[in-house]
Amino acid sequence: MKILFFDTKSYDKESFDKQVVNYPDIEIEYLKTDLTPKTAPLAKGYDAVCAFVSSDVGTKTVEALHEAGVKLILMRCAGFNNVDLDKAKEYDIKVMRVPGYSPEAVAEHAMTLALAVNRRIHKAYVKVRENDFSLGGLMGINFYQKTAGIVGTGKIGAAMARICRGFGMKVIAYDVYENPSLKDFVTYVTLDELLAQSDLISLHCPLMDSTYHLINKDTIAKMKDGVILVNTSRGGLVKTNDLIDGIRARKFFGVGLDVYEEETKNVFEDRSDEILEHSTTARLLSFPNVMITSHQGFFTQEALEAISKTTLDNAVAFEKGETTGNEVAAQ
Ligand code: NAD
Repeated sequence: MKILFFDTKSYDKESFDKQVVNYPDIEIEYLKTDLTPKTAPLAKGYDAVCAFVSSDVGTKTVEALHEAGVKLILMRCAGFNNVDLDKAKEYDIKVMRVPGYSPEAVAEHAMTLALAVNRRIHKAYVKVRENDFSLGGLMGINFYQKTAGIVGTGKIGAAMARICRGFGMKVIAYDVYENPSLKDFVTYVTLDELLAQSDLISLHCPLMDSTYHLINKDTIAKMKDGVILVNTSRGGLVKTNDLIDGIRARKFFGVGLDVYEEETKNVFEDRSDEILEHSTTARLLSFPNVMITSHQGFFTQEALEAISKTTLDNAVAFEKGETTGNEVAAQ
């Protein structure tokens, strides 16, 4: 099987090259460019393409991939909200993903953001570098005995719930399904109850029509004053302009974002020489209690190893006509 790999970074090539030696029937060609309707025709002659969270796998791209003869889209990530599944189904192109490569990688990053904004680590680091050893602006709160509210208790949300329990927090959660592995220490509540009771809210549900802008001016109004909000799931869960209004109204003690609505152009790019216009990200960064990272929740050695192995296993299963549970399809 020949796979054309889009949006290759050095660490992608390193981890896939390390694994692919164990898959003698798979050949990978790496491209730096991302998958878009314009670049999709490059896949002519390949059986599969491999894409990532910021790739444009929308209608036009899927059409172009179909014309190029591609039969398989390998998403090397868990989310697939950027894929037009209806079009893929129409053209009989299979879409496979890596549903759970390392939930702890993302959950640990969510707690990293929560702690960093709480104790203002981003400010403290800069202050001490400038020989400013004063503590002004750095006061945090204890997480111990506070309430953590987890929205979405799948693999990552469950890992975050366990981490919060380790901090001595009371853990409450909202999900459309209860996760039985958490029943000993998590209390399921309604979303409104979670918003009203939580000192730390961490988002771990997928982006779907029903969760788009889940955090908006109405839900923000229901939160406790002085809440810490962390989003490591998908940017579209939070309506950025409403979040900015909430920050200005002093609703939040801190906000930690690994994902945000405007991220697509930024993700994994060095744009330090550019003048960014109309950037709500820049506005968010102007607040002292906000910290943004660039979709790095997944980025650990263990996760990259698991991503490359599962992606190649998916390709093998597709060749053999086997089902793995990693397929995603329009209903
Ligand atoms: P998962 O499928 O295991 O869990 C998702 C949970 O959300 C499920 O329990 C589901 O029932 C719940 N859910 C669905 N609709 C809901 C709703 N309306 N309200 C509340 N809960 C709802 O997924 P996961 O592996 O835990 O990943 C969660 C999300 O994390 C992914 O969708 C992805 O967007 C994101 N993610 C981010 C990174 C990163 O690097 N920052 C990496 C991987 C995944």
